[in-house]
Amino acid sequence: MRAIAPSYYPMFRCIAGACRHTCCANWEVDIDPETYDKYMNMSGAFAERIRSSIVVEDDGSSTGEAHFVLRPDGRCPMLRDDGLCDLILACGEKALCRVCDEHPRFFNYRSDVIECGIGLSCEAAIPLILGWDKGFEMVDVPLPGGADLDLDDVIEEEPDELEIEVYEARDNAIRAASDRSAALSERVRMLGGPLWDSGRRLEVMKKLESLSQEWVSIYSRIDAAADPFTVLDDPQYSLQFENMLVYFLFRYPWEGARLACELLLMVADCVIANPSVDLFDIVREFSSNVEYSDCNIDDIQSFL
Ligand code: SF4
Repeated sequence: MRAIAPSYYPMFRCIAGACRHTCCANWEVDIDPETYDKYMNMSGAFAERIRSSIVVEDDGSSTGEAHFVLRPDGRCPMLRDDGLCDLILACGEKALCRVCDEHPRFFNYRSDVIECGIGLSCEAAIPLILGWDKGFEMVDVPLPGGADLDLDDVIEEEPDELEIEVYEARDNAIRAASDRSAALSERVRMLGGPLWDSGRRLEVMKKLESLSQEWVSIYSRIDAAADPFTVLDDPQYSLQFENMLVYFLFRYPWEGARLACELLLMVADCVIANPSVDLFDIVREFSSNVEYSDCNIDDIQSFL
């Protein structure tokens, strides 16, 4: 099995203590069963602290679902005030559970290759993805597996016809999205087909689950009569929006180009409605609230 990723992927570095919007707060970190067993078998005072920071909830499975109990301010109990992680400092990166080790990376498992990406919920990944001006290209990268991902379980096989079709369509869409012979607004109309207007997108956003009040404030300012296409062709934003479209197409191969275009236009709606908010802040809020929630993506799909 080989792994491939966009050419910016190997350049990603977590900025840890310098991060203003750490991913170690405001969402519960699920602890995978292998790491949970490791924590249960560790010895020493720090191991006791780890164990006393974990709860196991009954999710109907034989093992239950373990996660760290967030502090009242929403931060992970292992996160220090200076933004560093006590668990890494005491036990090294190998002690991290899978979610912490991988984030903000995501993986699409194809039959014969693993596609790796970094996501727009991370403030260090956003400028890398959206500011990339060298074209979208896939390169070979080391296989993921730092956190006990058992690659022996991933059996390489020939893709079937449907998978080949889906990924060919996705790759064609990425080429079309990157073709600057047409304005970005035209590329989006061509790829997305019949798209919602801003009012309908706002209705859908209101139905989704939100993690932060900031996000609710951002989308609540949307004017249903605004035209989000104007912002796509604004030279100030066109590279970022083109890269965002390519990112959505790359990340959601099975969901198709319509979803990618609607997600892009949701961000564009928010940018028009919030002229004093930085684009990267809007993107980060959108990604952590909407895009990183499988339920929200499923809900948007169901409305399409
Ligand atoms: S959001 Fe990104 S940069 Fe910030 S702590 Fe998480 S991985 Fe690191």
